[in-house]
Amino acid sequence: MNQNIYNSSIWQNNKISYQNKVNPLIKTYETKLMFEIEALAAFKDNYIWLIKNIETHQCVVIDPGDALPVLHWLEQHTNWQLVDILITHHHADHIGGINSLKVQTNALISAPDNFIIHKDRTLKHNQFINIAGKNTQVIAVPGHTLDHLAFFCPANSIQDQNWLFCGDTLFAAGCGRVCEGSMEQMYHSLQLLLNLPDNTLIFAAHEYTVSNLNFASIVEPDNQLIQQRLNDSIKLRKQQKNTLPSTLYLEKQTNPFLRCHSPAIKAAAEKHVGHSLSSALAVFNTIREWKNNF
Ligand SMILES: [Zn+2]
Repeated sequence: MNQNIYNSSIWQNNKISYQNKVNPLIKTYETKLMFEIEALAAFKDNYIWLIKNIETHQCVVIDPGDALPVLHWLEQHTNWQLVDILITHHHADHIGGINSLKVQTNALISAPDNFIIHKDRTLKHNQFINIAGKNTQVIAVPGHTLDHLAFFCPANSIQDQNWLFCGDTLFAAGCGRVCEGSMEQMYHSLQLLLNLPDNTLIFAAHEYTVSNLNFASIVEPDNQLIQQRLNDSIKLRKQQKNTLPSTLYLEKQTNPFLRCHSPAIKAAAEKHVGHSLSSALAVFNTIREWKNNF
């Protein structure tokens, strides 16, 4: 374990800064160049990610399950224009606001193939699109739903950062439930995301970090980085700060669903289920079922 890498990768190098706005749950994440990303809190624990191009004053939202936090932000920032709405999947807490936002802003709605009304553009795996001036790769990640997409925005320059907007597929220290696809699909979707650069910032759609780390600490009790991350996350939540974005590097160290090859996790899964498990997929299947009932 390298404490310095842990600390610097999350809390220092990425220059996360929290600026209380009208809603104390709205946080500003400052990137180093022409972009800022804000987390607009919605419902109990959703985040609607707002990407702002500070040169053009155009902005993009991802998964606006509720229009009100977005409309409120636009009312408070009248010199900004909402130009794009991106959807990762069709669950109501990710799409509920698009009708109102379409009517009030006429933003372009880009979404997966299924179920989305008011859609202007259907997105496909490996398609490249422009988000607020940032080139973005669409990655199909079926499992949570069959239509689930993730959006990877590679850094524009050495000072810029890689972003991943992964909806309900990858969470901080966890992953989404497998609602429509198979365990195998979800496992392979997570493997696809594991191929991204370690310093990719992970913008998941829910604040589930403390709950996920409580589970991770049961599955892998000797992983001190999990315990440290849990303590840090509890502190952040007590201060009403969000725990995202994460980095892929930190997820690789602390997220049990990305660590199914680990002997410690395999042993814990085998103990839980009472028999040996022959593959990382079988380990994934076991800990996903275990988490469902945790
Ligand atoms: Zn969902």
